[in-house]
Amino acid sequence: MDKAINKYGNYSFQYDWNVENCSEIWSSRKAIMKGAKFDNIGLRCISIADGSFETPCKNCKQTFGGHTIIKDKDLE
Ligand SMILES: [Zn+2]
Repeated sequence: MDKAINKYGNYSFQYDWNVENCSEIWSSRKAIMKGAKFDNIGLRCISIADGSFETPCKNCKQTFGGHTIIKDKDLE
């Protein structure tokens, strides 16, 4: 079985959700559509529960590996 197939049968490194569920994907798409270069995009992943820093999911680690990940301590 392909390791990048999730429980819904879709391509996803994250077993329990689809790539389209990641807001990082959509916000990066929006930035690119407005002229940003993919390699220049930095991310701050947040928990939808309380807005605190969240570690990037497996999809985002694959998609944005090498990009700057902004953590809460970086904003203090
Ligand atoms: Zn993600």
